[in-house]
Amino acid sequence: MGIGKKIMTWARIKSPWILHFNTGSCNGCDIEIVAALTPRFDVERFGVILKGTPRHADVLVCSGPVTRQIRERLIRIYAQMPAPKFVIAVGTCACSGGVFEGCYNVMGGIDTVIPVSAYIPGCPVNPQAIIDGVVKLVGSLEEGKSA
Ligand code: SF4
Repeated sequence: MGIGKKIMTWARIKSPWILHFNTGSCNGCDIEIVAALTPRFDVERFGVILKGTPRHADVLVCSGPVTRQIRERLIRIYAQMPAPKFVIAVGTCACSGGVFEGCYNVMGGIDTVIPVSAYIPGCPVNPQAIIDGVVKLVGSLEEGKSA
């Protein structure tokens, strides 16, 4: 691994920047994602910072199943993220479609549209599980598994 890539990997491990995107969630998982970012659970202590644009994000945190209406936007947002990029599916709906599976307006889980690096099941997922998923993803980067 070159020195430039080493520095980039080190920076991503020390401070992964995330973008939260609701692809069709009932908002239950979104409330828990927001809670994970509040001072009570304080995901920032791991260097995780919420960004407002995909162009600055390393990790896309998706909640909900992918609706037919949001599919193109999800593809566009993923394409706008700089590589290497990672996707976390938060909640059973994001992992597999969940209770919305089979609905006429739903494609399924996030991985039916874009590649997913980590799955965090639950309905809704609690903030501790979200933090655990992010820490495990960062750990796998450290071991060079997904970078
Ligand atoms: S997993 Fe549960 S809480 Fe989360 S979006 Fe699906 S139905 Fe809502």
